[in-house]
Amino acid sequence: MSKNLEEIEKEILGEAYFSNETRKNLAVLCSFGCRFAGTPSEEEAVKYLLQKMKDYNLSKPHREEVKYLGWKRGIAKLEVTKPESKELECIGLPWSPSTSKEGLEAELLNIGNGTYVDYELHRDDVKGKIVMTSAFTPPWMRGQHRCEKLCRAENMGAAGFIYAKNDPGLLCETGVASWNPPETLGRIVKFPAVGTSKEVASYLTRLREKGKVSVRITAKHTSAPALTWNVVGEVEGSDKPDEVIVVGGHLDGHDIAVGAMDNAAGVCVVLETARLLSIHKNAIKRTVRFIAFPGEETGCFGSAGYVMEHLKELDKIKFMFNLDGAGRAARPGIMVQGWPDAIPFFKNVSRNMDQPMSVDVNFGIYSDHMPFALRGIQTASLVGGIGFTASTGTRGWGHTKADTEDKVDVRDMREASANLARVLFRMATIEELPFKRKSNEEIKTMLHRQGYDEVMEVLGSYPSWLKI
Ligand SMILES: [Zn+2]
Repeated sequence: MSKNLEEIEKEILGEAYFSNETRKNLAVLCSFGCRFAGTPSEEEAVKYLLQKMKDYNLSKPHREEVKYLGWKRGIAKLEVTKPESKELECIGLPWSPSTSKEGLEAELLNIGNGTYVDYELHRDDVKGKIVMTSAFTPPWMRGQHRCEKLCRAENMGAAGFIYAKNDPGLLCETGVASWNPPETLGRIVKFPAVGTSKEVASYLTRLREKGKVSVRITAKHTSAPALTWNVVGEVEGSDKPDEVIVVGGHLDGHDIAVGAMDNAAGVCVVLETARLLSIHKNAIKRTVRFIAFPGEETGCFGSAGYVMEHLKELDKIKFMFNLDGAGRAARPGIMVQGWPDAIPFFKNVSRNMDQPMSVDVNFGIYSDHMPFALRGIQTASLVGGIGFTASTGTRGWGHTKADTEDKVDVRDMREASANLARVLFRMATIEELPFKRKSNEEIKTMLHRQGYDEVMEVLGSYPSWLKI
């Protein structure tokens, strides 16, 4: 006799909590290094993840080629030149161009948090200045990403950009300077951009309070077309193989750390969920497809490439979970992206599982659900409660050299994997999934409501297919 839902879920939970697979996978991925797009460690991770998908008996394990524009870090130097002379710690932001050998010197303009309000207040001051903003966004405002802050400065004719970390500890924060339109791959911004620490920014702020300050940025980076791979495998549905739920997460970190939280832990949860469901593949009715995406940190190249390559099959994808940062904070909850009509479904699942989960709605464009959502597919992220740094308006260890293996707790990865596997098992076995692909009109309305139509215009990345 076949097992019932309760028996299968008990086995899923037992396997998730007894197994050491996530811890082992995390250690191996971190041992390769950063897995940043274009590095040997990226290739090692792709090979490893593909082998694991085979070991876990997934169907059709394979990799798919993605072409993109690569960016390689060279040197970056930040100096104060007036009223005193001093070199300051900094880090180049990916998609920053090189400067001349002499560097680029200009007056410093500190505009605080660099929100759209700060830019409105400084509209006439930005041109020709090296603009400095904090990474912080006040929690009462819509979250404002580094790219939004930087591109506002770029559009207003700034000469350079300094991005200051908001958490103390002498850590410089990295992150891309430009966000790509979904159909193009990579864009070098118009001015040199660097990240620096809260302490350096505080020093510059104090200096500016006494009078005018000049700074110089010198940078040398390179960029060239490159090739990478999405790693794909699935648990095929027995009744409705053409109805697909995608579970993805990015395999890369930034080139300055091993990116343990962001996102080795997340891709380990993708892998573990695949393993937990694969054990019960005979009971699965619709297909669950697992994808490890490369190049998220440099502009979602993997996920954008996947969506572009599979445009004709997108109607089959009923839902997409993006596990960016999943497994790094306790108490996983579900953050529905964009359209709130998926909330009742997940609240119901949480109730039926008798497992409290936060279910909320938000929207962001800076991760791998974006290319799917902008084509009308309903998506969600896994989020944590306590310890989720976005709620404090800062990244904590994320995007710094301190994002190391010790920051990840195996209990969080186990909890995220176990919970998601149960949710997915229910989604893959119920009669009907209530999610309908959204029309272009619905996508436009959602972007407008979330304030992202203006943001995407600022970034130069508003989707061309929504412009008609
Ligand atoms: Zn990430």
